[in-house]
Amino acid sequence: MSQYDFDLFVIGGGSGGVRAARIAAGHGAKVAIAEEFRLGGTCVIRGCVPKKLLVYASRFRDDFEDARGFGWSVGETKFDWPALIAAKDKEIGRLEGVYRGLLEKSGVRIFETRANLMSRHEVMLDTEGYHVRAKTILIATGGRPAVPDIPGVKLAITSNEAFHLEALPPSITIAGGGYIAVEFACIFAGLGVPVTLLYRGEQILRGFDTDLRDGLAEAMKKRGIDIRTRTDVTGIAEKGTGFAVGLTRGDPLDTGLVMFATGRAPNTENLGLENADVTAGKAGEIIVDAFSKSSADSVYAVGDVTNRVNLTPVAIREGHAFADTVFGGKSAQVDHALIPSAVFSTPEIGTVGLSEEAARAAHASVDIYKTRFRPMRNILAGRDERMLMKLVVEGGSGKVLGCHVLGPDAAEIVQMAAIALRMGATKADFDATMALHPSASEELVTMREKWVPAPNAAG
Ligand code: FAD
Repeated sequence: MSQYDFDLFVIGGGSGGVRAARIAAGHGAKVAIAEEFRLGGTCVIRGCVPKKLLVYASRFRDDFEDARGFGWSVGETKFDWPALIAAKDKEIGRLEGVYRGLLEKSGVRIFETRANLMSRHEVMLDTEGYHVRAKTILIATGGRPAVPDIPGVKLAITSNEAFHLEALPPSITIAGGGYIAVEFACIFAGLGVPVTLLYRGEQILRGFDTDLRDGLAEAMKKRGIDIRTRTDVTGIAEKGTGFAVGLTRGDPLDTGLVMFATGRAPNTENLGLENADVTAGKAGEIIVDAFSKSSADSVYAVGDVTNRVNLTPVAIREGHAFADTVFGGKSAQVDHALIPSAVFSTPEIGTVGLSEEAARAAHASVDIYKTRFRPMRNILAGRDERMLMKLVVEGGSGKVLGCHVLGPDAAEIVQMAAIALRMGATKADFDATMALHPSASEELVTMREKWVPAPNAAG
């Protein structure tokens, strides 16, 4: 009889954990998974999926406005937040059921409890009150919102609560400059809530291409979002039915609701890493090798808890590669280069590869091709907003290093461009590709002029 209850015990039923559990079970392993909240994890329950549903809701305002330019008379429009949240919750419940069904069909035993490490091979099941032994343990516990330690922080919400507000606030102040802060700023603004976005840095979306950052900030401001950079929150106090927010710059701000989207921390607190000799980094992230193995031979970690690239498709790939390597007899690593990503702001960002700044730092010669134009729909709609398309090209080889889009359907466009970049496409390959007309993305294959900085421009 085996000394273990399971071949694999997975802690965390999110994107990475569920994929790893299913694939390992498919390879014949005896697998169990513990989830302390809801199956599906952050992405399904309080991340990508509910967020995208709110993004869709927030964009109907544009559709109603634009319709007039195309001959439509749109009657009085009204928005019902509780109806949206109820519809969203129904869909999330359905997806949670899909995840559960997939695990059950694969023969994975589900424990609906928190689990902690007792040793390199033992996991304590909190609410069950007993522990189980596993040959291999996978930590896939994801991350949680990180909030600053300032007076009154408990009065603020994070993205977790934003999905369950009973009513839309009369106004909202969002602290943070990353994609989650920016997306929620656009969601609330689209739903008619006055939004102030505070960010302590010079410009929102650190790490993205500067043209995207500047272009989006400009568009958001034109849409009425009050973006204040180099400004941080010092404290929050109740005031009337809302809140007063102390700032590092300028007078305190009165607002209906405060939201922090100031980054995320790996979920390793009180997980018992020390019991299994698992090494964590400064932010609490589990340190792993290219095969997602931790400092303990029997313990692996995938997804946000490793703080490599914190995106759902990456967690899924890492979970899959782990299961194939450890239980499928294949040696599978995940390539973390050229991962496309999006910011579901309005207008939207899609990006893959190097920003102009990163390319210039890494390559001796870099050519830039870019264009800003009014998409066809905006002309009759009377909408002034422009679309931006940019290719970052290695000067010598002509290889396309980065593709950046700001505007409608940017995410859809860049997902396809990512295939070309992965295949090592050159600018000449883009040029040789026939345009699809009339479309916005045809600009990516018709840009012929290298961009030359204005004589007085820095750099
Ligand atoms: P998770 O999905 O977080 O799953 C971890 C699970 O472990 C959770 O269910 C948690 O309850 C459980 N858990 C934690 N500790 C324990 C324990 N001790 N015992 C038992 N269970 C435990 N990514 C994208 O690719 N695109 C997007 O558009 C996008 N939008 C996002 C929007 C928001 C608001 C947020 C917060 C995130 C978004 N992400 C997006 C990121 C994405 O959600 C994560 O990268 C992804 O969910 C990571 O998967 P994971 O398996 O590592 O962890």
